[in-house]
Amino acid sequence: MASGEEVHAIGIDLGTTYSCVAVWQHDHAEVIVNDQGNRTTPSQVAFTDTETFVGDAAFNQIIRNPTNSIFDAKRLIGRRFSDASVQSDIKLWPFKVIEGPDDKPMIVVTHMGQEKQYSAEDISSMVLLKMREIAEAYVGSTVKNAVITVPAYFSDSQRYATKNAAITAGLKVMLMINEPTAAAIAYGLDKKASWYRKRTVMMFDFGGGTLDVSLLTISGGIFQVNATAGDSHLGGEDIDSQMVKHCVEHFKRKHNLDIDGNPKALGKLKSACEKAKRRLSFSFSTDVEIDCLYQNTDFYITFTRAKFEEINKDFFNQCMVPVEKCLKDAKMDKGSVDDVVLVGGSSRIPKVQQLLQNVFEGKELCKGINPDEAIAQGAAIQAAVLSGNGNGKLQDCSLLDVTPFSLGVETGREREMTVVIPRNSSIPIRRNYTVTTRHDNQAVVKFAVYEGESKTTVNNYFLGDFRLQDIPPAPKGVPKFNICFDIDASGILNVSAEDMLTGQKKGITFTNDRNSDGIERVMLLM
Ligand code: AMP
Repeated sequence: MASGEEVHAIGIDLGTTYSCVAVWQHDHAEVIVNDQGNRTTPSQVAFTDTETFVGDAAFNQIIRNPTNSIFDAKRLIGRRFSDASVQSDIKLWPFKVIEGPDDKPMIVVTHMGQEKQYSAEDISSMVLLKMREIAEAYVGSTVKNAVITVPAYFSDSQRYATKNAAITAGLKVMLMINEPTAAAIAYGLDKKASWYRKRTVMMFDFGGGTLDVSLLTISGGIFQVNATAGDSHLGGEDIDSQMVKHCVEHFKRKHNLDIDGNPKALGKLKSACEKAKRRLSFSFSTDVEIDCLYQNTDFYITFTRAKFEEINKDFFNQCMVPVEKCLKDAKMDKGSVDDVVLVGGSSRIPKVQQLLQNVFEGKELCKGINPDEAIAQGAAIQAAVLSGNGNGKLQDCSLLDVTPFSLGVETGREREMTVVIPRNSSIPIRRNYTVTTRHDNQAVVKFAVYEGESKTTVNNYFLGDFRLQDIPPAPKGVPKFNICFDIDASGILNVSAEDMLTGQKKGITFTNDRNSDGIERVMLLM
């Protein structure tokens, strides 16, 4: 490419707790090590009196500066302040989140002595910029093109907000792909499938804060997410907290000292427990030892793997619930699953692997790729395919998805959500629905489009609306309007309504406008 123009396209896994970046080089997807020598980077940003820290630097100072150290931005991105999940998450965070304009959650920090507000997009864009810089330092040139992954269940607004964050970070988003799809690409499962031999894959993604389970079918290079299930608050951090709780009780029993409520001591314990947890994935026993933990008293405990499994038994059993739910939602039998793929750092825990293997009656699990790197590797492969950098080694593949939420229109006095396309429908898809007027001689009918699972639209996400006007006078219930929801293969949603008497037709299109840098949801009124 001309004049030092970038030649590399990267794949970024923007995770809730950690992010990872990879690039296709020397005929494989290479995970890029950051400036601290780590292959994953904490998705954290911290503000101090003099600086802004991103990644490991933010992570390393969190105990000293908890109210200005921001993590979990992925739990906020594209959501409304009033969302139930946002309200419950806020209670768990040491940093402050307030309601901003248009119900947007805003994070409040003190930065350089001044109070400042940042949106989740702002924080994510700083993390993405860090990932971009890590990649640039490695390839030695500017990097702009990227494939970014998002959870399969992410709504339209969460996807747009993520894309917005990437654009702010100076990236050109070639494509956003679902995390399970990326992991399947990394394992080359598409190569094992063919048009006449479908491959069914269960992705078990157990990370730091979330568990996402998805079922994909792959055939003829097409990836289709059949169902997703999960637990948005079950991850490695819950396991760390459980270990910390155990240690606090042990300390109390042994020294009659209570460290509960002492953030510094708890922070030290959490970090030591997390490291011990990692060791227990490979050894049967490990020690947690901290000098002068509290009031000049040292802390010491031995964790056996059996003890670790006992105190976390409930969490581990809980992990299998979404597995069963996902199979049920997809109406699939476990016998029809060809591959069970482990993704996310917490999937290294032997007990979790054992339980999962029991569900699938002893089936070998796919764990050849580092579970916290598989998604970024798949994204890098896709980026290479799209940019033509695969040197012919990579086959092109199409990505076919499902609707992560139900889509519908508002009907009735009670603002009911009438679902036209149910959640987990494969796209492309077209569905029709007929509605009528509620009043005699009604001249105008409004069609309001929503996504979400609630029975009333008040709790769902408003996408947009349009009106049919000049409807000829008629008693209520007589005019008929055909509403058509149409989602094409690239996820563009077109909603139209036609007056079946007059033929008057209006509509609205929601597109993620993949080919340009614009972030705005483009709404085209017909
Ligand atoms: P991820 O968000 O996928 O990078 O996962 C991060 C989570 O994986 C953190 O909670 C880590 O503590 C956890 N983790 C990483 N390595 C291991 C390991 N060897 N054993 C258990 N948990 C791990």
